Amino acid sequence: MSDDCIFCQILQGEAPCYHVHETRYTRTFLDIFPAAPGHCLIVTKDHYQDIFAATPESIAMVGHVSTLIAHAVKQELQCEGVGIFQLNGAAAGQTVFHYHMHVIPRNSGEDLAIHSRVPGDTGELEAMAARLHARAMSMRTED
Ligand code: AMP
Ligand code: ZN
Repeated sequence: MSDDCIFCQILQGEAPCYHVHETRYTRTFLDIFPAAPGHCLIVTKDHYQDIFAATPESIAMVGHVSTLIAHAVKQELQCEGVGIFQLNGAAAGQTVFHYHMHVIPRNSGEDLAIHSRVPGDTGELEAMAARLHARAMSMRTED
């Protein structure tokens, strides 16, 4: 737990999020600046700055959950592909220093950016989170 970390604040219930999925070790919620509709972030429940600080076990759990979220996103949104990205260090483009993985629905011809400067519409984010949550819950999960 790091007081000035927005993801820790979300995990503590001190900041809101558009919840999609939870395991003992991870939380998944929507990115509020979606690079595409359905852009998810899978975060470790423990605070690790990046891949260099995170334990191999926590990284493995995020990877494990990424398969479920990728399937849920693809099934629910019928996208052609899913981009999975993970940035470490400001030089690599990391902007929130709490280990996390991006899961981004992709369709041919669309911009391949990871970050957007445009905030998602709150009503659309809410509806999207509900859809992906329901889809993820309908699939087999392990934690
Ligand atoms: P990164 O640049 O890989 O560290 O990604 C951090 C992501 O977190 C960015 O895509 C931001 O849009 C996103 N983000 C920042 N604050 C929040 C928040 N409060 N809730 C959800 N996503 C956020
Ligand atoms: Zn944190």
